[in-house]
Amino acid sequence: MYRTHDCGALRIENVGQEVVLSGWLQASRDFGGLTFIDLRDRYGITQLVFNAEDEDQAGIDAKLGREYVLRATGKVRERSNKNPNRPTGDIEIEVSKLEILNASKVPPFTIEDETDGGDDIRMRYRYLDLRRPQVQNNIIFRSNLAIETRKYLAEQRFVEVETPFLIKSTPEGARDFVVPSRMNQGQFYALPQSPQTFKQILMVAGMDRYFQIVKCFRDEDLRADRQPEFTQIDCEMAFVTQEDILNTFEGLTKYLFKTVKGVDLPDFPRMSYDEAMKRYGSDKPDLRFDMEFVELNDVAKGHGFSVFDDAELIVGICAEGQASEFSNKDIKKLTEWMQRPQIGAKGLVNVKLTADGIKSSVGKFYTDEQIKTWADKMGAKEGDMLLIMSGEEEKTRKQLNELRLEMGRRMGLMKEGDFKPLWVVDFPLLEWDEESERFHAMHHPFTSPKKEDEERMLNGDHETMKSLRADAYDLVLNGSEIGGGSIRIHDRALQSRNFDLLGFTKEEAEAQFGFLMGAFEYGAPPHGGIAFGFDRLCAVMNGQSSIRDFIAFPKNNQGRDMMIDAPSPIDMEQLEELELALKPKK
Ligand code: ASP
Repeated sequence: MYRTHDCGALRIENVGQEVVLSGWLQASRDFGGLTFIDLRDRYGITQLVFNAEDEDQAGIDAKLGREYVLRATGKVRERSNKNPNRPTGDIEIEVSKLEILNASKVPPFTIEDETDGGDDIRMRYRYLDLRRPQVQNNIIFRSNLAIETRKYLAEQRFVEVETPFLIKSTPEGARDFVVPSRMNQGQFYALPQSPQTFKQILMVAGMDRYFQIVKCFRDEDLRADRQPEFTQIDCEMAFVTQEDILNTFEGLTKYLFKTVKGVDLPDFPRMSYDEAMKRYGSDKPDLRFDMEFVELNDVAKGHGFSVFDDAELIVGICAEGQASEFSNKDIKKLTEWMQRPQIGAKGLVNVKLTADGIKSSVGKFYTDEQIKTWADKMGAKEGDMLLIMSGEEEKTRKQLNELRLEMGRRMGLMKEGDFKPLWVVDFPLLEWDEESERFHAMHHPFTSPKKEDEERMLNGDHETMKSLRADAYDLVLNGSEIGGGSIRIHDRALQSRNFDLLGFTKEEAEAQFGFLMGAFEYGAPPHGGIAFGFDRLCAVMNGQSSIRDFIAFPKNNQGRDMMIDAPSPIDMEQLEELELALKPKK
């Protein structure tokens, strides 16, 4: 027998029992003939004590090392110096027999919550990193979330269907990973960016409600919250309106928070895309704090300050109580932060409402009374600081969004344990891209325009297309997009018009999506769906920004798996078999 109990199980009630435990040696200490060992497994840590001078045990302590795999037999006894920080801290095991089940090399970093290992080394030895309770808990959290998702959706009569990984490219706006076909030389499969077309076809097939917790693949540049392969809770429903979908998945989100985190979420507010952009400069506003945008065109223009006079938009935020927190040097630094190429702001106007009056960087151009009208408009009071930006409308809003988030961080307004969900609805259908002089689908090419915009979409001119709204929605949580979806086009004519607008020729559309449009001719029901970013949901629910810690075997920023060392070259033979080998020049 390897164990009667796990390493997190024993309590004071067990004193006197004979037990067997197995686990890893986390630490050991010698005290004049007595050896103390912390034995660890997934469930916790239990202290072992044994007398290394016992005949049976003689010499074993000299052989022990960190991460050795041990089996200990002994009796539970009360500890004289208890450890209140550990659930097993009242007891210890008086070991009668200690066996080494396996030795370990000295690990390259400490396997405790606080580790000394850098990212690279921890990824290379992911199996050791995964022994750390913190990382292990993340993976267990993820498992619970998946199990509860299945329970909820099964209860709602969703059917879990697996869709293929070796498919044909589906455009979701990213690059495909491709897989060469040996049996069809010169041809390639694409890995799905999402099961989008399949889930729609499942609706045509009468499945009615589909879900899948599924890997998706996108060949994009990586960031902390992106991985080349990631997981979605992917869903689709037939005979539904947007309202049905929002309600069903608000239900799922609330259920998951309640069962996995014990948190009751209130009803989710809704905001149109336009309103979100206007009030927060972002389609995923963090609602844990206010600091809403206030437009100042009417009160700040026409006083000879050309930066404002020439601007399309003058807009600001009020940082409550910050007038005395930011020295001129701090503001200079903040301005420089805003001027980095990532944000690209030209400048930043600030106004402090101090007990000694108004202090501002534009005092030369405006009287105190004039500035007071701005402050009033922004609802500011003594002690507050106004931060104001100006320029081209869209750009300025986006830049001010960055500033708002930065101020939120600095002012400690993004509180841990505070969850503020939001549905953003009524996204534009199409987005005009100046560079490529083309429309792009804001969500994806299968998204339906709003019913009232259908006619305008079929017959309108170029400008009209920019104003079309879609039945498309995002679920935002604390400033992260955790889900997105839409009601789909289920009519062949509308779908081909959309491909048209997106710049596909008839032939291209037919070659890529003929199967879907063909299916639409055999009685496609009205349908729609959503996909949650599962890794991100895990991270956001735990107040973390990196999804990597919630993925058992993640890739690094270069898209490498450091543990198995992939990607890697393949044999010439394999290349030849695939007809991918470069033929030597004659
Ligand atoms: N396939 C979409 C995505 O991956 C989600 C959806 O529209 O259901 O974002």
